[in-house]
Amino acid sequence: MGCREETLQAAVKMIHERIGKVVSLSAFYDTEPDGFQSEFRFLNAACGVETTFSPLSILDKTEAIEKELGRISKSSNRIYGDRTIDIDILLIEDLLIESERLTVPHPLMHERDFVLKPLAEIARDVVHPRLQKSVGELARALRIT
Ligand code: ADP
Ligand code: MG
Repeated sequence: MGCREETLQAAVKMIHERIGKVVSLSAFYDTEPDGFQSEFRFLNAACGVETTFSPLSILDKTEAIEKELGRISKSSNRIYGDRTIDIDILLIEDLLIESERLTVPHPLMHERDFVLKPLAEIARDVVHPRLQKSVGELARALRIT
């Protein structure tokens, strides 16, 4: 919702300033809404970040960024329920986390072409620590690369 390129670029900048150096960034992919009806299309991207923060601190920070960017667009367009931005944590090295607030790897990442397509661009050879398959293999399984 809103100016999607601008919002996505702002999110990457805020991640860089608050979480850690953004060392890779995919192209921005224009995709259909998945699983619900909306007049809006999505713009999806994946980035790689070098950070020394703990997984839960990273989540705190991505949630704060979502809130801040969400507020901006709500004031200019409060008619719709669609979100301005959704920041998900896909992989953190080879950690397996299952806590109340955080599941890593993200539980649906391997089923979603709008995740695997940008992710394969920046992390094709990274192995999913639960499925023991590379991101490239997962993408091929969905026939998207
Ligand atoms: P979705 O991302 O599935 O569209 P939301 O962004 O609304 O839905 O979901 C956010 C919730 O998901 C938060 O309460 C957060 O604690 C939880 N969560 C669990 N694992 C993750 C993850 N890997 N990345 C981001 N949020 C996560
Ligand atoms: Mg989310």
